[in-house]
Amino acid sequence: MELKYLGTAAYEGFPGLFCECEACKMAESKGGKNIRTRTSMLINKDTLIDFSPDAYLHKLKYNLNLAKVRHFVITHSHSDHFNPLDLMARCEGNYAHFDAENKGSVVGVYGNDKVKACLDQAIQIEFGGNQSFIGYTQVVPFTTYEVGTLKVTPLLAQHQTDEQSLIYLIEEDGKTLLYGNDTGIFPEETFEYLKTVKLDVVSLDCTHGAKHRGGYGHLGLESCVEVKERLLEIGSATENTTFILTHFSHNGGLCHEDLEKQAKPYQFVVSYDGMELAL
Ligand SMILES: [Zn+2]
Ligand SMILES: [Zn+2]
Ligand SMILES: [Zn+2]
Repeated sequence: MELKYLGTAAYEGFPGLFCECEACKMAESKGGKNIRTRTSMLINKDTLIDFSPDAYLHKLKYNLNLAKVRHFVITHSHSDHFNPLDLMARCEGNYAHFDAENKGSVVGVYGNDKVKACLDQAIQIEFGGNQSFIGYTQVVPFTTYEVGTLKVTPLLAQHQTDEQSLIYLIEEDGKTLLYGNDTGIFPEETFEYLKTVKLDVVSLDCTHGAKHRGGYGHLGLESCVEVKERLLEIGSATENTTFILTHFSHNGGLCHEDLEKQAKPYQFVVSYDGMELAL
């Protein structure tokens, strides 16, 4: 399984779209890994986890052929994770012309009821009604779905009270990724499910950086350590499991280098835009 972190920031981006804080000024002056766009991950060139408002920028920056993306697996409806109006540009005709390989293709979107409502609203706004280029699967937590070559299992997150936010377990060829944002410390049902799973890579929400502990809604470094320890304790992670932190906010205040220094004692990898790994 090939993973690419397309974006690694929380909602407002880092530097923030309208922000003048010291952390954002630092990010602007240092550049490089300190410039973070809104989160999304590309798996094997045909699956996106979340559809970021920066998808168009990602296409340009990484020279991606997004026509090849057939599966959109969405964690929740927050606009930094799902931007359905841009997905309308995938409609064949005026907006997109495809090579033979992609002609007439239908994409699958996977998510909760609120993501479905946002998608329906975008279709209504853009086309005034039905569209046949998108199929929707409203997923049920702890149920495994075949998504292309991947086995995808939504697990419950702890992110907000008015929506059933999800994190995802993603398996291919005996390798398993846990894509864990946005969430606070996982609910007990999720830890319970993970007891029988062996994780190769765990990607965690570290919105608060090292500044706040986090716990409900989002994690910080301290609560990421708590999640890691819990996963080790229940046996789903071992010393060979790679833990990666992502979804950083300027409110955490730290540049990439300092985040790495703070995360090193716990063997966390600090992600950055464009980071790739294979498992
Ligand atoms: Zn978010
Ligand atoms: Zn800022
Ligand atoms: Zn969110």
